[in-house]
Amino acid sequence: MLKKIIFLKYGELSTKKDNRNFFLKILNNNIKKALNDVTINYDYGRMFIIPKEDELPLIINKLKNIFGIHEIVPAYLLDNKDLEIIKETVLDLLKGKKFQTFKVEVKRSDKNYPINSMDLRKDFGAYILKNINNLKVDVNNPSLTINIEIRVKEVLIYFDGIKGLGGYPVSSLGKGLLMLSGGIDSPVAGYLAIKRGIKLEAIYFESPPHTSEAALDKVKKLAKKLALYNNDIKLHIINFTEIQEEIYKNIPHEYLITIMRRMMYRISAILASRENAKVIVNGESIGQVASQTLTSMKVINEVVSIPVIRPVACFDKLEIIEIAKKIDTYDVSILPYEDCCTIFVPDHPVINPLKEKCLEYEKLINYEDMIYNAIKNKKTITITHNIEEEFQDLL
Ligand code: ATP
Ligand code: MG
Repeated sequence: MLKKIIFLKYGELSTKKDNRNFFLKILNNNIKKALNDVTINYDYGRMFIIPKEDELPLIINKLKNIFGIHEIVPAYLLDNKDLEIIKETVLDLLKGKKFQTFKVEVKRSDKNYPINSMDLRKDFGAYILKNINNLKVDVNNPSLTINIEIRVKEVLIYFDGIKGLGGYPVSSLGKGLLMLSGGIDSPVAGYLAIKRGIKLEAIYFESPPHTSEAALDKVKKLAKKLALYNNDIKLHIINFTEIQEEIYKNIPHEYLITIMRRMMYRISAILASRENAKVIVNGESIGQVASQTLTSMKVINEVVSIPVIRPVACFDKLEIIEIAKKIDTYDVSILPYEDCCTIFVPDHPVINPLKEKCLEYEKLINYEDMIYNAIKNKKTITITHNIEEEFQDLL
């Protein structure tokens, strides 16, 4: 009997030596969660996924979105080790495949099998050449690699795999808090952080009635895109209206953005500490706007001691857009809804803010109470991404 299965290659993870098991355990949990009730077997450190009939495409699609997987390999298990049967089966599986050159790789984990790997390789190669016309062997750059593993109980047959996302399994590096706006940069920053194994929660500052429900909805949609890679995502919504209005009323306008961002950082740091997040992640990109000059970043960053990770700090906008398109956040990000920063944006924001000025101006507002209230009144929702629904839509 021939059984269709999938196995996974881990790439970068397999170089992690002592930590390998730690990473794999988390990856396995993430995969189990994503695949629900699919049967998974383990064999010599390798994970075999046994899909039910017709589930293969959906499962492959799910695996394509899981960080930590280097390659997804659809394979076949044959429970008969008779050489002629193996040959016929391989030939059968090759029908319908388009390739001009090939090589055969044989691994013999059953050391009692009567023929050695080298002879098996030659034998399979000759058999394929005899039975399919116009083929050539190319060991260096074949258009198809045929892998045959003679195992103790069965034979594993597979061809080239599908590229996975790579990176580290989500959660393996702990938790981070993403400052998620409705823009292009922060979802990309979030995606890149998740890729490095950070499980994200997100924080969004809204300023009703200056910002609308539609703007919040846009952020929820972006969070949902990230939830695909993050398993699910907690979104904390902070009402920022009072703080922004007070800043607007009391502080010289060239310092509006600097001080507003210092407040955002302060709130994010408190929330991060409460939620056990080790870092703040945001979409700042050096030089993009006045608040992202090196001086601005320093003066803003000074109000927190938690590390702030800026995955797109050194990317050009076009590079960021390219990733945004790849992860399908771009079309949502460019929807024209106002953000809390854009409403209160001054004509001439300071490019080189001074820390002393910030401290002096901040004395003009009672920001500690306002921050306390904003956090007390936060709303938190958990957003999930159900790929099954999307898959149904595609069918
Ligand atoms: P993006 O940078 O995501 O395209 P943006 O350009 O509107 O959005 P900037 O003004 O460049 O945002 O702000 C830099 C970063 O600060 C954002 O990438 C985001 O991480 C964070 N940020 C800005 N506004 C908000 C907000 N309303 N809520 C949460 N985080 C925000
Ligand atoms: Mg930006």
